[in-house]
Amino acid sequence: MIKYLLGFFCSLFTSMLLAQTTYIHCGKLIDTQTGEIKKEQTIVVEGTKIIDVLSGYVMPRSASAKSINLRSKVVMPGLIDMHVHIEQEFDAHTRLNGYILNEADIAFNAVGFAKTTLLNGFTTVRDLGGTGVNISTRKAIDAGKIPGPRVFTAGKALATTGGHADPTNGSSRKLIGNPGPKEGVVNSVEDAKKAVRQRYKNGADCIKITATGGVLSVAKSGDNPQFTIEEVKAICDMASDYGMHVAAHAHGDEGMQRAVLGGVKTIEHGTYMSSKTMDLMIKNDVYLVPTLTAGKEVEEKAKVKGYYPDIVVPKALAVGPQIQGTFAKAYKKGVKIAFGTDAGVFAHGYNGKEFGYMVAAGMPPIETIQSATITNAKILKMDKEIGQIKQGFFADIIAVDEDPTNNIKTMENVVFVMKNGVVYKQ
Ligand SMILES: [Zn+2]
Repeated sequence: MIKYLLGFFCSLFTSMLLAQTTYIHCGKLIDTQTGEIKKEQTIVVEGTKIIDVLSGYVMPRSASAKSINLRSKVVMPGLIDMHVHIEQEFDAHTRLNGYILNEADIAFNAVGFAKTTLLNGFTTVRDLGGTGVNISTRKAIDAGKIPGPRVFTAGKALATTGGHADPTNGSSRKLIGNPGPKEGVVNSVEDAKKAVRQRYKNGADCIKITATGGVLSVAKSGDNPQFTIEEVKAICDMASDYGMHVAAHAHGDEGMQRAVLGGVKTIEHGTYMSSKTMDLMIKNDVYLVPTLTAGKEVEEKAKVKGYYPDIVVPKALAVGPQIQGTFAKAYKKGVKIAFGTDAGVFAHGYNGKEFGYMVAAGMPPIETIQSATITNAKILKMDKEIGQIKQGFFADIIAVDEDPTNNIKTMENVVFVMKNGVVYKQ
């Protein structure tokens, strides 16, 4: 009798410790590895992981297991955006923010942006630059203090003096001081090494450089080269020592080529990319992150009087319309495409619009979804953990109403979100 009671209490105790099991019934399920869309599937989730994917609608075996009905939905892995700015959102007053916001203000803003991003189906993002608050945002999400996507962040982006990510462009000289490697401004190989090590010390996961001029910085050129190839090489070599990859913002072709030859992993935007650079990217296994949504946004907002500073307007009008055409050419030529939007340049939560712009430029819908899942997971070295609905992977699962291969706009309306086994939207 005593033995029996002991056994009973032991099994009760273990079942209390066991993680919650959930059976998700999926009307359709996208296999991102093969591109197949399977009908009537059951995903079994235990704790933070997917433990099985079964054919048909399988009912839970134990009374404590839950089931979730997505029988009228199309289910796929959580999406990954390779280019967001999680702590900021651009508006007509953005220039002033540098002078009126403290870190705490930025952090509170980031809480809302992170939640919005997650609720729109993006369970992982690569954050390509902010003030450094983005690192704290990642920590708060990882610790479960705030809801948000899994974040890989560059911390503060690296630029040269007057370059696209020099935080003091266009500001009063009385206020700006002399930013150096600590603040992300480098002007030599030695500075470059120090800046990468500083990012590592601060807790960044990857490095972002602004290899050419950019649209929204208060500076004349949107496309001039802004690093020497020696500086890019030093940054990439140093980053590699610390297990980090390098992303390069680039519009102009010369700066883009230096970035590719210097060893970066991704080219962001790629606006004026020549076919020679496309070949170099294919040869060196460098990905293009198109950010078409940002291109559309800056083109549209440049037409609103006073929205951007005068010096930004001609750049926005030139770069915006060019990006989608370059993406179409690069895709056709065989450049690998990593899904990324530049959310923060436009309002967070609209990341899903990118799918429609990619399809309009000639990329098949299923490939856009593969780009936002398996391709991006590979760049983040997480391709055994995220980007697929498969046994052993993190339970990052989303659903939409329609089959995206019939209507890609459905990606703008994500109706179910689970991250790490926790349901955030249903
Ligand atoms: Zn950006």
